[in-house]
Amino acid sequence: LYVEHPLGPGQSVPLSRDQAHYLFGVMRQGVGDAVALFNGRDGEWLATVAEAGKRGGTLVLVEQSRALQMPPDLWLVFAPIKKARTDFIVEKAAEMGARRILPVQTEFTNAGRIQRDRLQAHAVEAAEQCGGTFVPQVDDLIRLDRLIDGWDTARQVMFCDEALADAPPKPAFGAAGHDGAPWAILIGPEGGFSDRERARLHKPDHTHPVQLGPRILRADTAAVAAMTLWQQRFGD
Ligand code: SAM
Repeated sequence: LYVEHPLGPGQSVPLSRDQAHYLFGVMRQGVGDAVALFNGRDGEWLATVAEAGKRGGTLVLVEQSRALQMPPDLWLVFAPIKKARTDFIVEKAAEMGARRILPVQTEFTNAGRIQRDRLQAHAVEAAEQCGGTFVPQVDDLIRLDRLIDGWDTARQVMFCDEALADAPPKPAFGAAGHDGAPWAILIGPEGGFSDRERARLHKPDHTHPVQLGPRILRADTAAVAAMTLWQQRFGD
């Protein structure tokens, strides 16, 4: 069960109405039963149910059952697309071990805003689903130009672009080294990147243009394919 509350020895954790409904109504847990908890920061903890009610309850922490497993320092930077496909991208990024998820507004991005809290909730659900102890942070929408302006050049960029015929020669992804370095994967919107954005993105040494095969993939497919490639080369 995911909770916001800090988890540590001797702590007791109050439950919201929804959490109580889920635990006591849906999962049929009751006083004295054991529950595994995580908050994305303090690992997984075993707790016992001390109070169980319709509108709430209390869990008392017993011991840590698993330490926090931090994924590698990988960000997924992507241009949001249609709602359901954006949800899919966030869910898969959380499952596949992104440490941070940054929706960006590019020139050809149609979505002018995102529902950050909803996307964050999808990341929590995905982490819960795959037994993770870490939940990636989902950022607010930021303009790609602003992100590039403030970029820490130690962070390498796997720049996924289907139009690589015009790219300047660069070391192929995989031959580039950078094991242990922080990375970001960049995926464009349905309309792709503009020429101006491409020109900006191709210049710096920390950008590694990557082709994901000869076909144009949908952005959600490209995100999963890129994360798989990255994990295969640099993941743990
Ligand atoms: N501009 C394209 C068009 O309209 O023909 C489509 C862009 S594609 C649907 C969305 C994003 O997925 C791209 O910006 C890129 O980041 C990624 N992508 C799709 N296919 C790719 C490929 N074969 N290689 C690398 N990246 C790809």
